[in-house]
Amino acid sequence: MADKNAVVNVDEYRGVWTFAEQRDGNLLNVAIELLGEGRKIADELNTELTAVLLGKNVDDIAEKLIKYGADKVLYVEDDLLSTYTTDAYSKVIYELVEERKPEIFLIGATNIGRDLGPRLSARIHTGLTADCTRLNVDLENRRLMMTRPAFGGNLMATIVCPNYRPQMSTVRPGVMEKAKYNENHKGIIEKIHPYLKEEDIKAKVIEFVKSSKAEVPLEEAPIIVSGGRGLGTPEGFKLIEKLAKKLGAEVGASRATVDAGWIEQAHQVGQTGKTVRPKLYIACGISGAIQHLAGMQESDCIVAINKNPDAPIFKIADYGIVGDIYEILPELIDALDHVDD
Ligand code: FAD
Repeated sequence: MADKNAVVNVDEYRGVWTFAEQRDGNLLNVAIELLGEGRKIADELNTELTAVLLGKNVDDIAEKLIKYGADKVLYVEDDLLSTYTTDAYSKVIYELVEERKPEIFLIGATNIGRDLGPRLSARIHTGLTADCTRLNVDLENRRLMMTRPAFGGNLMATIVCPNYRPQMSTVRPGVMEKAKYNENHKGIIEKIHPYLKEEDIKAKVIEFVKSSKAEVPLEEAPIIVSGGRGLGTPEGFKLIEKLAKKLGAEVGASRATVDAGWIEQAHQVGQTGKTVRPKLYIACGISGAIQHLAGMQESDCIVAINKNPDAPIFKIADYGIVGDIYEILPELIDALDHVDD
């Protein structure tokens, strides 16, 4: 039912859109996660799911988006869209939104998404909830309930945008479940050639220089072994690395260890770090502060090792080992050595 306070006619807006972020012709995982979440929302609202793809020569990605469940792909192709610029992307998407009026628009909270989302919402004059970790729909009035950590992660705030459309949200990578790939899924790819001139783009991208720092692909990792302050010293991470290597896992960390300079920020899991949902998460010497849990509590199986039986991490752990990491980890590594034999 339309809200009498609504500033725009919300009933004119229909459909769920997701931003299909690609870089150098590679579709980002978060785009597939948005399709997974977008599909659920669109089905609940009994409406279409549309992926918005901008770029040059990315027809293969457009096909892929259909197989990942989009009913439609708006594929805007132009030389000036081959790499992301705030001006070009926000102009093109703004015009599409104005013309076609989606009711929901989801964007990944990547560096690009965090730049694009606010710029777009300001231009459209609608609300944006940044960094969401959960989305639900209030079917009675087609409102998107956008939930995100607030007040330092001490509570979760659910935000609605009743009077403007589209309801926009950036969603953290790694939080939502990826859409399933279905070779037989059918949909429409609409190719659009935008009216875009060089003068529309104020900032010119001269060159891309990739960071020399090695990426830590925590969001993709099926197994993560994380270390916390309980390690006592930076050297403790050598033991974590050893176990991780045995398991083919990535190394994660609590913020306390990052702040102490024991390990790089790229390893941090949690509210101000990465959100992960591996099959197995092993927390070693981590107390289980709410801000850490915010980044890993969706893991399929959580194993906690902590010498304090009352540590909050045990409340969410599937398996808890009460004891000293310096006794337990060497035993675990030793046991895995024997598995290899
Ligand atoms: P501690 O809380 O000090 O816990 C150490 C644990 O190790 C204890 O439970 C102890 O019993 C155990 N231990 C000690 N010695 C041993 C041993 N030898 N063997 C076994 N166990 C042992 N934190 C994050 O992790 N990620 C975030 O993204 C994040 N974002 C934040 C954002 C904000 C706005 C704020 C305010 C805080 C944030 N924090 C974050 C910090 C968070 O509140 C905690 O301070 C932090 O997670 C604690 O890290 P820890 O568990 O390693 O250390």
